[in-house]
Amino acid sequence: MAINLLILAGTIEATRLAKEISDAGVNAILSYAGRVERVKPQPLPKRVGGFGGVAGLCDYIEGSAITHVIDATHPFAIQMSRNAVDSCAHLKVPLLALSRPPWTVQRGDSWIRVDSISAAVDWLQIPARRVMLAVGRMHIYEFSLQPQHRYLLRLVDPPTSDIPLSNFESIISRGPFTIENDIALLQSHKIELLVSKNSGGTGARSKIDAARYLGLPVIMINRPELNRERQEVEDISEALQWLFHGAQNLGV
Ligand code: NAP
Repeated sequence: MAINLLILAGTIEATRLAKEISDAGVNAILSYAGRVERVKPQPLPKRVGGFGGVAGLCDYIEGSAITHVIDATHPFAIQMSRNAVDSCAHLKVPLLALSRPPWTVQRGDSWIRVDSISAAVDWLQIPARRVMLAVGRMHIYEFSLQPQHRYLLRLVDPPTSDIPLSNFESIISRGPFTIENDIALLQSHKIELLVSKNSGGTGARSKIDAARYLGLPVIMINRPELNRERQEVEDISEALQWLFHGAQNLGV
């Protein structure tokens, strides 16, 4: 049976995987939630928007004759990942997660670990600081509960009236970011504290390295638990191995 792959996307890993899959001449489609206005051009066809929960994803997989699913979403896109596990288990369609390892503390880091966005908001019940908020656009509103701070946002799309903060400045950039530039960014905005998800990977790492270099504390939000069993790899080469040669050869 010919492979017809669904890639759940929205990350740099999905973009890299798409290139390899396209080069290999495999039938595949990339799926995006539609959170970002300007999606980078991709070498594979794409679809945009939610499927409609587990039932909708099952319908999509069946209707599009998908043979394999690779979940290359962000580690905090937990609902999509759970839906993928449940749908693929129901339909007995092979599923693999292409995941990034979380960041771990290094010498010189000053991390305050919290388990959720709301715990980070609670922690910020302190006198006014200049805070870089690296939590993604969808969660910014929660920080309006701590309006005493001056927030710096780095956004992919320009801000509209949807930013529910009264005291913020924003820069528009989708990277790639470098430690040198992020040190300069944190210094020029006189940032005293960074709030970040533990996204892992290299794409968003430079701000963490920059904070260490400058001795700044980081409120690090731990990853949510998947609470599901699934096969997971970290390298694209392993994902290709799984796709072309089957899970039994992967040793996972
Ligand atoms: P989420 O909370 O897990 O997903 C909520 C709903 O959005 C899902 O149930 C699904 O809707 C839809 N959805 C999510 N990812 C999708 C995809 N790749 N294709 C089609 N529908 C998708 O996800 P999220 O945290 O809002 O993240 C949304 C997207 O942004 C993901 O693709 C993720 O990779 C990317 N992203 C997220 C973060 C982050 O920090 N969360 C950071 C960078 C990139 P239905 O139930 O209707 O199918």
